[in-house]
Amino acid sequence: MYPTNYVVPIAVNEPVLDYAPGSKEREAIVKALNDAKSKTVDIPMFINGKEIRSGNIVEIRAPHNRNLLLGYFHRGDASHVQQAIDAALAAKDKWAAMPWEHRASIFLKAANLLAGPYRAKMNAATMLGQSKNIYQAEIDCVCELIDFFRYNVQFMSEIYAQQPRSNPSTWNRTEWRPLEGFVFALTPFNFTSIAGNLPTAPALFGNTVVWKPSNTQVYSAQLIIDILKEAGLPDGVINMVLVPGPVAGEVIFNHPDFAGIHYTGSTEVFQNIWKTIGNNIHKYKSYPRIVGETGGKDFAMIHPSSVPEQVVTAIVRGSFEFQGQKCSALSRAYVPSNLWPKIQELLLKELSTVKMGDVEDFTNFVNAVIDEASFKKLEGYIEQARKDSDASIFYGGNCDSSKGYFIEPTVIVTTNPTYVTMSEELFGPVVTIYVYDENKFEETLELVDKTSIYALTGCIFSADRYAIDLATKKLVNAAGNFYINDKPTGAVVGQQPFGGARGSGTNDKAGSALNLYRWVSPRSIKETFVSPVTYQYPFMSE
Ligand code: NAD
Repeated sequence: MYPTNYVVPIAVNEPVLDYAPGSKEREAIVKALNDAKSKTVDIPMFINGKEIRSGNIVEIRAPHNRNLLLGYFHRGDASHVQQAIDAALAAKDKWAAMPWEHRASIFLKAANLLAGPYRAKMNAATMLGQSKNIYQAEIDCVCELIDFFRYNVQFMSEIYAQQPRSNPSTWNRTEWRPLEGFVFALTPFNFTSIAGNLPTAPALFGNTVVWKPSNTQVYSAQLIIDILKEAGLPDGVINMVLVPGPVAGEVIFNHPDFAGIHYTGSTEVFQNIWKTIGNNIHKYKSYPRIVGETGGKDFAMIHPSSVPEQVVTAIVRGSFEFQGQKCSALSRAYVPSNLWPKIQELLLKELSTVKMGDVEDFTNFVNAVIDEASFKKLEGYIEQARKDSDASIFYGGNCDSSKGYFIEPTVIVTTNPTYVTMSEELFGPVVTIYVYDENKFEETLELVDKTSIYALTGCIFSADRYAIDLATKKLVNAAGNFYINDKPTGAVVGQQPFGGARGSGTNDKAGSALNLYRWVSPRSIKETFVSPVTYQYPFMSE
């Protein structure tokens, strides 16, 4: 209407509350946990702003206490996926045409709802549904998701401000169009923040979205929908379907208006999706954007000059927080022979203090793994390590599913640097240590680089700057997020843009403008003020 050149609120990272005994936030979370447990929820799909109940209900239980029934969700089928696509396409033009400041406001409001009235409720849902302790829940479903909402808005305003050069006779302009069609957001169980970011980042730019969360994250996914609704997201912009992945894929990857996928999850699923898209490429109106952040086999390379206490802290936090179910979790460590005796001693001392159990007992550092399939898979690797001559269980190894899916923090020591748990992603509280000859630092860097197909995160511990420089150079392609004297987990939006290459994904860096560029399809407009009236150029004169 009138000229505008709005400046968005400058994004800052949401402070992490500490939940110490006696604090206000501690009181609020205890109340929210009790509220959540006092009822069972009935979670519908959410298509075109409407709650859709199929009647085909699936139970949601707490991973750490299978007797605790949290609620049900309604499982849909291919017809619901089709409805969600139709709703997204119908909502597209109006949403894309909405002035960007209104789109931005919706997500800034969502951030504030999450920081305030929804904070305890969202933490409680993530704690109970995904078995996170309060600190792991707070840094994920509250702080990181708020950061995604706020920083994405700021990055959007910076992207939109970019314009090409012009000259006096022509004016060049860039129009930041959304993609043509709809975007598919396919999200994992392990981070509520990722589940929230993957559908909203494309939506912020005027895209409309079909979102399929993981079965084991639906309990907190519902709250994301509640928040977006309360923040004013119009009907049809984000449509949540609760169907098995292949059912969604079958409809979506055959649709001519499929414009892109925003995926986080395992590498195998992503590779199959990529193949399917490739096989169907002739069916689409545009080449779909394929953004996928996938698995990791994240390493710690320990130089002989390192401080053992720092190394052990990094191993315990990096490997066992949220039961190692982070794509960035430290799962292979290379320890030099000179430090191994001290590191063994400190590791045993520290691990003997680690408590495991229910999320409601705040003294527990470790809780349950997500489900039975994960429990069985981890138990299988641990049992195999007990049998293999080139591996041994240094600590832990007990698995107990009598009440919930508990896998004790487990340290495997191997004499074989390519042992299976040094190269495959286990996605649980298991770290494998390989002790290398302290005189073979450089050769060991090569091992680190070549042992797995992944390249997500990794760290170097060293007090020697030449060693840090050498590791940084030799491991240049071994990790998309590389840490010096720190554990390889805990990336913060706006500070350490996140993602890896090789088998770990397309490295489109969630938490930065780079990711957001994938959700726009710019149109370049050139306007000539006085158009030529003859085709002949001066060089053609006699
Ligand atoms: P997953 O691959 O089992 O599931 C991811 C999503 O894909 C879920 O919504 C699932 O229902 C769906 N899916 C599964 N099979 C499908 C199929 N055949 N077709 C279509 N969709 C399908 O992953 P998960 O267990 O939920 O999450 C853990 C994985 O995610 C780990 O490998 C982890 O490393 C990775 N992860 C990566 C990052 C990152 O940023 N790189 C972050 C978090 C998690």
